Amino acid sequence: MDITTYDSGRRPVWCPGCGNYGILLALRKALAELKLAPEEVVIVTGIGCHGRISDYMKTNTFHTIHGRVLPLATGIKLANPKLTVIAHSGDGDAYAIGMGHLPHTARRNIDITLIVHNNMVFGLTTGQVTPTTPIGVKTKSTPFGNFEKPINPLLLALASGATFVARGFSAEIDHLKEIIKEGISHRGFAFIDVLQPCVTFFNTYTVLRERVYKLEESGHDPSNLEEAFRLAMQNDKRIPIGVFYKREEPTLEDAFKHAMNPPPAERLPVKVDLSKALTRFR
Ligand code: SF4
Repeated sequence: MDITTYDSGRRPVWCPGCGNYGILLALRKALAELKLAPEEVVIVTGIGCHGRISDYMKTNTFHTIHGRVLPLATGIKLANPKLTVIAHSGDGDAYAIGMGHLPHTARRNIDITLIVHNNMVFGLTTGQVTPTTPIGVKTKSTPFGNFEKPINPLLLALASGATFVARGFSAEIDHLKEIIKEGISHRGFAFIDVLQPCVTFFNTYTVLRERVYKLEESGHDPSNLEEAFRLAMQNDKRIPIGVFYKREEPTLEDAFKHAMNPPPAERLPVKVDLSKALTRFR
């Protein structure tokens, strides 16, 4: 298997230089190195420039409605847990229209991967503000500059209990490929926010190239949750990319499997120790 295995043959229509090309290549390389057969993979995409990735991949694909990537991906995985389900969303799709689904997918720990193409604008509709647009940026919908504080997707994922939290940069293709491979191999919900410049409406290449650094080169321990929170808040002069945090714990599929076929002792009504249940943080 190589990257051509996953090439649908359709020529991408993204603007020349768009960060989506880097994500597409990193994804194909990751699947090839994991030796995943196209029929074992489902790519689910939402609405936005990122959504075209489902046209360019020769795997199972589902291009769904705005903001509903995660419910679709969840249903597909529960219906057939053997499939490798990879959800793609844009920053508008994931953090505006589909925002309600992200924390719940994270806390359920379903075994899917979410790759957010975060270009900080609505590119497909010609450059309006999104929840990750920095303050002060003038867009078509914010002619006096953006007044709204951007959300921090990594903090949100960590606080929601995601068991794999990472950030990539679309211009660092091999680094992103490794993150995607690790996310797909992780048992549980893998959240990957990818800094993806939109060359047409918000070109961030120069500033990102100057500021990003790789976490693994700084000796970061991805099992350290407190350090992951601290790093997620570091978004000024230096921008870390890599795996911020990961841990192993039972998935939603494990819980369903157990509930449908419990050991005899658990078939009686379950008694819950409330003092323990209420102190459990994650
Ligand atoms: Fe890429 Fe922006 Fe063009 Fe969309 S509008 S294809 S995000 S460069």
